[in-house]
Parts: sequence; structure tokens; C-alpha cells
Amino acid sequence: MISVSDENAVAFHFANTYARLPERFYARINPTPVSAPRLVMLNVPLAVSLGLDPAALAGSDGVQILSGSCVASGSEPLALAYAGHQFGHFVPQLGDGRANLLGEVLARDGNRYDIQLKGSGPTPFSRRGDGRAALGPVLREYIVSEAMAALGVPTTRALAAVTTGERVFRETVMPGAVLTRVAASHLRVGTVQYFAARGDVDALRTLVDFAITRHYPEAALAKQPCRTLLDGVIGRQARLIAQWLLLGFIHGVMNTDNTSLSGETIDFGPCAFMEAYDPDMVFSSIDHQGRYAYSNQPHAAHWNLTRLAESLLPLLVLEAGSDEAGLASAQEALAAFAPQFDAARLAGLRHKLGLATEREGDEALAEDLLARMSANHADFTLTFRRLCEAAAEPGKDAEVRMLFADSAAYDAWAASWRKRLHEETASPLDRAATMRRVNPAFIPRNHIVQAALDAAVEREDFKPFETLLDVISRPYDDRPELAQYTIPARPEQCVTQTFCGT
Ligand code: AMP
Ligand code: MG
Repeated sequence: MISVSDENAVAFHFANTYARLPERFYARINPTPVSAPRLVMLNVPLAVSLGLDPAALAGSDGVQILSGSCVASGSEPLALAYAGHQFGHFVPQLGDGRANLLGEVLARDGNRYDIQLKGSGPTPFSRRGDGRAALGPVLREYIVSEAMAALGVPTTRALAAVTTGERVFRETVMPGAVLTRVAASHLRVGTVQYFAARGDVDALRTLVDFAITRHYPEAALAKQPCRTLLDGVIGRQARLIAQWLLLGFIHGVMNTDNTSLSGETIDFGPCAFMEAYDPDMVFSSIDHQGRYAYSNQPHAAHWNLTRLAESLLPLLVLEAGSDEAGLASAQEALAAFAPQFDAARLAGLRHKLGLATEREGDEALAEDLLARMSANHADFTLTFRRLCEAAAEPGKDAEVRMLFADSAAYDAWAASWRKRLHEETASPLDRAATMRRVNPAFIPRNHIVQAALDAAVEREDFKPFETLLDVISRPYDDRPELAQYTIPARPEQCVTQTFCGT
């Protein structure tokens, strides 16, 4: 039996709005209690920023709540309804099959956040799934989402990880775990698709109003609120995907149910940061056609946003006054994706190369470097990080060129780069410092993540994971004592494939 926590033990001060939406938006369902909950990770700074007391969360009542064994005072647990295109195939009903939205909290920054348990037991949306999560994937989401946050990328966050004392059955038997996820909201493109597929225009309108209030308040005052919302989502997704590319991040499962309306990175499954630059890189074991390969991500995002525009069409038509005008409005909104993505990517590439001014040939210069990196298997993160030093001191070129299979390939490019840098006014030292703020030294390298997950799962040793959390928490600082974490995997350490683990 599930119990309700006493009033004062862990004060979330939930202020729920999703639970006020019509019943067809969700299923009211409590998490399923677990046999032996144990807190293995608590994000103390995040707890504080949410106005939560970390000591109370780490206490026995807190752990009961974080494991789903007890419902916090004020919580109204829900499993959200949504649909989605999975690898291009439409599934009219997906929904939270292993998650419970506990409620919403108002954080110190004034924003509202969802607190969700993931892996917290079956729901009416579970289909054949067991509603559970395994420790490995929970820790992977924890580390990668926290790395993304530290890198400055919009993302859901990880508040806590709890082991359940129960086993889950995947390819092998794994320890069960529950992740507490924090998100600006859990609204997805798939949420809109869910109601569009049912022809439920009233629900679409309610959902659009909700998304506007929550994420795009300026749209409420616009002449065409739904179109303004669509513009907003498209703009945020364009900038988000540009940020992913600029950091070498591959999401792995860019289905429409994993595309958030808030513009946050969400649902970390078989995601990874690439090491040697390769635009065709795919890690996910289930992505056989490379649909979500590194350089396909902008196309995938545009495809997903096209599904969003289609789903919003009934409202766009009403706003625009006719079928033709509604369709034109959707097309106009979608046409803005590519220029916004291109502009964000080019601005980011300029920053990565230390260019504060804009010149005609900058894009070609950046593409030339990327092509040479690809042909020479140069490590993406390390190349750009070492360019920061080289920008200050040409003597440091040696450190960059050694990353290229044929070092002459770097030398030829570096000559044009230096010529271009002569047109810049910043001092070399200032330029290097600015570059260090966009070219991270530390990313969660796959082999290091894997080793940390293995230690936790196989030996209940969480020390490597904690160390890695510290490493990724300040990705742009030089920390010579952590130099080993900046180095790419040796061939025998290389992780070439990642798994959903769901
Ligand atoms: P994901 O691949 O995590 O984006 O999940 C896709 C869909 O499968 C969502 O509807 C999930 O809720 C559902 N799902 C994933 N894993 C499980 C599980 N173990 N039990 C029940 N539903 C699941
Ligand atoms: Mg998902």
C-alpha cells in the first residue's frame, strides 16, 4: 500500500496546473512502491535551486518519495498521455508508460518545473513494458543531462537516483532504479499529435493555451497565438540542435515524443558525444538507417516540427481565416527553421574559432576544418579545445596537429585561419579565454561513462560516477589534475554502440 508523507517531512510546495487540465490529458496513477529503496545520487545544488531541502530529501521520508513508495504531500501523480512518430511510424498512443509526474514546483528563478519519477511502475500507458528502469540507463541519463546543463544546453535535469532493491529483466538481469527528473515541462510534439490524431480540437486549444502560458507567454498577446507558439518552438529547436552539433552531441532517438515544446533536450537514451569527428556517426543500436545520425539531426528536427505544424493546422486555419491561409502560415513558420539553425550554427562555429567579427569566408573556413577533421579522425572536443591555446600561441600548433592522422592537413588549414585572425582586434590572450568558454575541455566521454556505470551496476561502487559528475560540472575550466578525462578512448576502449536499455 502506498502511504502519504506527513506534511513537514519534505516540503515540495507543489503548485499543480497539469492536474487541472481535462481528464483525457492523463491518467491519475500513483507510483508503485518498491521493496528496498536506497538513495544513490542526490543533486544538492539543483534541490536548493528548486527551493527543496536536500537533507529532507536524503532522509528516510525523502527517499520513500523519490522511490515512489510514498506520495509527497500535495503531489497528484499523473501519467501523461501522448502519441508520437517512432522512427517515422506513427503510434497514436504512447504516453508515460513508466513515469509519474508528481507535480510542479516554483523554483527560485521564478520558473515552474515538473518533478517526475521515471521507472516508477506500470501505468495505463505501459503496453507490454514493466514500468521500470534499470540502474545503468538511469545513471546515463543523470550524467549526460547534468553534463548538458553544465555545458549551457537547455535540458531536463536529474535531481536524484534511487535503487529499488528489485531486479529488472532486460537482455540481462539488472538492478532497478528510479530517476527523479526535473523539466520545464513534459509537453512534447507527441502531446499535440495525441489530440490532433483524435480530431479533438477543444483539447488542442486547451493544450496550446497551456503551452503558451507555461513557455511562450508573449504569444498570448499576439494576433495569432498558435502561430506565435509554433514560431517559438521552431526557433528554440533550431537553436537547440545547433548547440548539439557544436558540441558533438548525438541524441539517438529524436522521435516526436522525445521532442519537447519547451526546447529542452529530453529523454536521454542511447545518446553519446562523438570523439573522432564523423558527420555520419550513429551510436544507437536500434538506428539501423542512420535516421538520427549526427548530421541528420537538423533534418530530423525539421521533420518533427513539420508534424507539429500539421497537428496544429486546425487552429492555424481558424487563426488565418481559411484553409489556404492556414497552410501558408504553417509553411511560412517551417521555412524559418533552416535559416535560424544555420545562423545559430555559424555564429557558434565563429565563436569556436575565435572570430568575433563576421567575414564572408568564415563558413567555408569552418567547413574546411571539419572536413579535414573528418578525413583525419581528429577528436572533435580536443581539437577545438587545443585550438584555444594555438589561438594565443602559434607554438601550440603542434598539440593540435598531432590529433590529425596526416598533420599536414592541419597545417594547411591553420595558415588560412591565422590569416583570418589578423582581421580580429582582440588580443590573443583574450581570444583564447573567450574560445575556452565555448570549447569544453570535458565532455562525458563514452568509455569513461561506461566504466562509471559498470562500477555502479556490477560492484555498487559509485565513486567513479561521483568523480565523473565533478569532472563534467565545470566543463570549460582548465583542470590539469583531471587531464586523463580529456583524452579520447584508445581503440580498445572505444564505445561504438549504445543501447536504449528500456
Ligand atoms: P522512450 O524510448 O523512453 O522514449 O519510450 C517510448 C515509449 O515507451 C514511451 O511511451 C515510454 O513510456 C514507453 N516505455 C519505455 N520503457 C518502458 C517500460 N520499461 N515500461 C513501460 N513503458 C515503457
Ligand atoms: Mg520518450
